Amino acid sequence: MYMKSKIHAKSQEKFLSNLLRSFGQDIGIDLGTANTLVYVKNRGIVINEPSVVAINTKSRQVLAIGQEAKTMVGRTPAHIVATRPLVNGVVSDFEVTEQMLKYFINKVTQRGFFHHWKTRVVVGIPSGVTEVEKRAVYDATRNAGVREVYLIEEPIAAAIGARLPIQEATGSIIVDIGGGTTEIAVMSLGGVVISKSLRVAGDKLNNDIIRYIRTHYKLAIGERTAENIKINIGSAYALSESMEMGVKGRDIISGLPKEVKVNDTDIRKAMANSIMQIASAVKTSIEETPPELIGDIMERGIILAGGGALLKGLDILITNTTRIPTLITSDPLTVVVRGTGMVLEDLDSLKELLIPLDINKKPNISI
Ligand code: ADP
Ligand code: MG
Repeated sequence: MYMKSKIHAKSQEKFLSNLLRSFGQDIGIDLGTANTLVYVKNRGIVINEPSVVAINTKSRQVLAIGQEAKTMVGRTPAHIVATRPLVNGVVSDFEVTEQMLKYFINKVTQRGFFHHWKTRVVVGIPSGVTEVEKRAVYDATRNAGVREVYLIEEPIAAAIGARLPIQEATGSIIVDIGGGTTEIAVMSLGGVVISKSLRVAGDKLNNDIIRYIRTHYKLAIGERTAENIKINIGSAYALSESMEMGVKGRDIISGLPKEVKVNDTDIRKAMANSIMQIASAVKTSIEETPPELIGDIMERGIILAGGGALLKGLDILITNTTRIPTLITSDPLTVVVRGTGMVLEDLDSLKELLIPLDINKKPNISI
């Protein structure tokens, strides 16, 4: 009899919580250094925009966020700056990060007390961030009106998104190459065995290209041009066919516009040092991995994620450096946000993979 009423009470509780949940929304956010993606349950990925904010430095007013702000990069008058609030994977400008998060969350949430009240958000953040920065992201999300906020390390979210069996007694390794950071994580039994966060990733490669073209062709180019070159003809490993493209910029001697032709060998040379740093960090992680897990990893392969995974020939280079087959996860730019969405589907059993935050219980703590 007692058992029966207990079961009854439990099912009533479940019914009530499901009913309340139907008012709210489940939202997953990949707060990347280059791109912010937002997933909403039952709707899929609804936002995929650059993590850029344009600010008027005189009035401190935010002028544009996302794609609109990115097109302003390098084109703004002196008092307008287009900044990336998450430089190098850390929250360098809290106020701007907060505005950006608020803007994206408000864009996808429905209005009304009940909606915000029952909205749950899982945010993926780089693994190298400090307690203060975690707190900053947490606060920013709460200030956007969300009651339940959970944080997850990006490589874990990426591994979940890539459907790696990270909760089983087997080893997996994921390498997430974003804009500001490269994150490497070896995982097993729901825990991170080895983790590395490197501040060498896509942005550094763009800067390498800018510097190389300046030195060798005496041509000044901007970041967006450098990124285009990287995506079009950049490679980590010599490919069977050579590639070439015309690059427009300003001659640094005459100050006049000029176009030069660059090829894949040039660009490979420009990026070689940074790419070796990424490959060496992967190799070191493998060397530090306990032998039992190495066997599993050799079978499963090294999984590449993040936009940097798309760099041509990077998988081949890492295979050659580590002697372990390396694969690119499908759709590497969205894997983190898809992972946060999968966490929301099964929050109860995956809770142990989230960053433990006492602040979930004590929201009024001050730091
Ligand atoms: P983050 O998680 O830090 O926001 P992303 O995973 O969104 O970063 O990846 C962004 C980076 O990936 C940028 O540096 C971008 O230039 C790079 N990228 C995107 N597509 C390609 C490509 N096809 N080849 C090489 N790099 C790429
Ligand atoms: Mg990322």
